[in-house]
Amino acid sequence: MKIQVVKEAGFCFGVKRAIKLAIDAVAEKDGKVYTLGPLIHNPQVVEDLEKKGVQAIKDMKTTRKGTLIIRSHGVHPQVLERIRKKGFKVVDATCPFVKRAQRMAKLLCDQGYQVVVVGEAHHPEVQGIVGYAGDSALVINHNRRRKKLPHFERLGVVAQTTLNIDAFKEVVVKLIENAEELKVFNTICHATARTQKATFKLASKVDVMVVVGGYNSANTTRLAKLCKKLGTPTHHVETAGQLRRSWFKNKDSVGITAGTSTPGWLIKEVKERIKSFR
Ligand code: SF4
Repeated sequence: MKIQVVKEAGFCFGVKRAIKLAIDAVAEKDGKVYTLGPLIHNPQVVEDLEKKGVQAIKDMKTTRKGTLIIRSHGVHPQVLERIRKKGFKVVDATCPFVKRAQRMAKLLCDQGYQVVVVGEAHHPEVQGIVGYAGDSALVINHNRRRKKLPHFERLGVVAQTTLNIDAFKEVVVKLIENAEELKVFNTICHATARTQKATFKLASKVDVMVVVGGYNSANTTRLAKLCKKLGTPTHHVETAGQLRRSWFKNKDSVGITAGTSTPGWLIKEVKERIKSFR
């Protein structure tokens, strides 16, 4: 059985940077270090960070002092203001690609466009971007049936950074009918686009695909959907222990890919376990 791993799979630049900033903050020994919500969408990494002194908190109600890391997803500007008012030392690990999406949303809003963010409304990154568009922004989920949008004079569009480019194009084409003027910023990050492209290529030629990463990770889930859409039998796992021998029975080739929040050691463990099934 031939096993191939997507070269681009695993931690992206933004995730590596956020983890480094968190570890550096612990090393400074300037009080406790927190993240508002998990630093990245991978439970195994979050557990490891907790052991190293980075604690994920759900809210700021009971926590008062220390350093608070802003996650790579970024936050709504009002949340940032609340964090500062609470007296936390802030370390901003918002990914530069997310910052660009926030900046473009603000620019469109300032120029008088009705801002549309294409992505998942519940995702923290999208909620943050909406905040920079003056909260009047509309969120369009490319997966859901859309309610008929009213007609706008000027529509300005940005994307959740991890969105699939084809899904973005599909929405943009439809939006042409909803505005006199349409301005689009492609805010999809290169890391995600590269991984998706390479995954698509590998998934088209192997017998079975394994996607490694957090079930709560939007970009990992999207990779699994992409492979399934191609008709390739696909299994999404968080750890090697979840793999089943039966998935690989009578298969000649296996492809492995992973989201941008999946550490290299997890991908390696999955590969080794599949090898042991031979
Ligand atoms: S996936 Fe892209 S936008 Fe998200 S953290 Fe990584 S590099 Fe940044």
